[in-house]
Amino acid sequence: MTSNVRTRFAPSPTGGLHLGGVRTALYSYLFAKKHQGQFILRVEDTDQSRYVSGAEQYIADCLAWCGINTDESPLQGGPYAPYRQSERKDIYKQYALQLVSQGDAYYAFDTPEELESMRHDNKTASNPSPQYDHQVRMKMKNSLNLLPDEVNALLAVNTPYVIRYKVPQNEFITFNDMIRGEISNDSNLLDDKVLLKADGMPTYHLAVVVDDYLMKITHAFRGEEWLPSAPIHILLWKALGWEQAMPQWAHLPLILKPDGNGKLSKRDGERLGFPIFAMDWTDAQTRETTKGFKEIGFLPEAFINMLAMLGWSSGEAKELFSKEELIEKFSIERVHKAGAKFDFEKAKWYNHEWIKHSAAETLFPQVKALYEKENIAVQHDDLLLKIISLVKDRCVLMNDFIMQGSYFFQKPASIDTEAVKPKWNEEKQLFFQELSNVLDAITVWDAVNIETAFKELALIKNIKVGELQLPFRVMLVGGKYGPAVFQIAEIIGKDETIQRCNDFKLS
Ligand code: GLU
Repeated sequence: MTSNVRTRFAPSPTGGLHLGGVRTALYSYLFAKKHQGQFILRVEDTDQSRYVSGAEQYIADCLAWCGINTDESPLQGGPYAPYRQSERKDIYKQYALQLVSQGDAYYAFDTPEELESMRHDNKTASNPSPQYDHQVRMKMKNSLNLLPDEVNALLAVNTPYVIRYKVPQNEFITFNDMIRGEISNDSNLLDDKVLLKADGMPTYHLAVVVDDYLMKITHAFRGEEWLPSAPIHILLWKALGWEQAMPQWAHLPLILKPDGNGKLSKRDGERLGFPIFAMDWTDAQTRETTKGFKEIGFLPEAFINMLAMLGWSSGEAKELFSKEELIEKFSIERVHKAGAKFDFEKAKWYNHEWIKHSAAETLFPQVKALYEKENIAVQHDDLLLKIISLVKDRCVLMNDFIMQGSYFFQKPASIDTEAVKPKWNEEKQLFFQELSNVLDAITVWDAVNIETAFKELALIKNIKVGELQLPFRVMLVGGKYGPAVFQIAEIIGKDETIQRCNDFKLS
């Protein structure tokens, strides 16, 4: 069953995908799917100066990793193609010209110097940054002022121009935001936004309205930073005669820095040591790679669960939701108005919970790939499965499987002798010397028999078992971590256990 609900995610391909962007995509997707509608990816690449090659594929990859599946996109196509704005140039121009001929927009031929002197001449204490608006437009070089012949003459010799929207005076633009409720703006405070740039490309303001209309978008989710542009967009919807088809707006609250105020930025991530981007992003110029949630070891399920809860609540005490549950529960009424502070510890908590609750079989492909990358030879898959079950509760990030599991397959790369040294003595040394023989004599090598033999010897030697388990663990694992030590010994096998004990030296 499908409905007519259509939402879109409309990023500009300018670099790494910020987690705030992923959250916008996620809410947009959840809303569409809850209503059996379609979710569209539209690439807003009309600002050629900010365009970064590779960023479009990267965005598609990030969405795919998160499980935010698109119904239509530049790469998969769809009934309203093209979905890349740079390929829709002619469409926008046609609407810009329509607005000019209706008298709702005009050609402006002002040079950068003329714009600069307008700003300079009109600057006052109460108006420190004058804008191109109803107060100055009649003093500028545009088709509202010039005679039609003068305009045609300028156009005939290819004088660079932009097309500006002529904001109507003395109007209150009121709309109902799905998150913020009724919002009103005074048109006299708005500037005559450029719609079509000198290079023939539309600005965001024109393109977003035209595309949302032509692509039949019913609900438009975007970041709160676009709220000041909303009245211009609404005026354009009206001027183009499309008011009845206008989508409902949802301006999402910002994701804030964990400390202080303001939007969470890439620099905050670098400063505080956590990722901001969904996946690794390499800057083509500097070759510098910024870490992503995926690569530091987040599960996509945990990442989207965490993002869903950053600005929305289900109304229940429960915090863990699968994508399917989120689709079922998501409601715009429960999106918060206030910004949400990002909390990396909480993000890791989600990941830990998701790892714990995932079946070993589900985690297996990723852990295996991780081990291959680290050149850890996995003797057989069944063993790896068993180890995943044994250690997954101890892994907060997927990469923790390296530390928590690799010693089952290979000798530890280093031994934390410092953990053993303070309480080490000759008796313990003798205990471990004899332990080799005791272990060697075990016929059925399992955790219970190993534990029994170990404890018997401790009793004979009159040393507390608790004092011996730590050194034994460090010998086998390399450090003070891992599941039950006798279980570890069982899995790594008799010869290897004996060897690791014999190899142990306190430097
Ligand atoms: N291209 C805009 C951005 O990069 C999209 C805003 C919108 O969704 O309308 O944020």
